[in-house]
Amino acid sequence: MTEQTETPRTGLGSPVQRYTVGKWHDLPNYQCTQCPFSTLDKAEMEEHWQKVHAPKPKPRRVVPQLVDRFGNPLTVEETDDG
Ligand SMILES: [Zn+2]
Repeated sequence: MTEQTETPRTGLGSPVQRYTVGKWHDLPNYQCTQCPFSTLDKAEMEEHWQKVHAPKPKPRRVVPQLVDRFGNPLTVEETDDG
């Protein structure tokens, strides 16, 4: 005896809706979903998104790992000269 639950599967990775398209004097009016910005120019809306809402690339800290000739990681440590 099994219970069957129906879970509607929403498409994974569906694109974020950036704007809605309305009408303004028979012209398509692009309304930003994230802010009150709206424009009649689709390209301008895309540009607006790139400027304002586009996810900023995360700064990656790249720490180069030095290895010696044996492949052992080198750690910076104080050495006693003496
Ligand atoms: Zn916006």
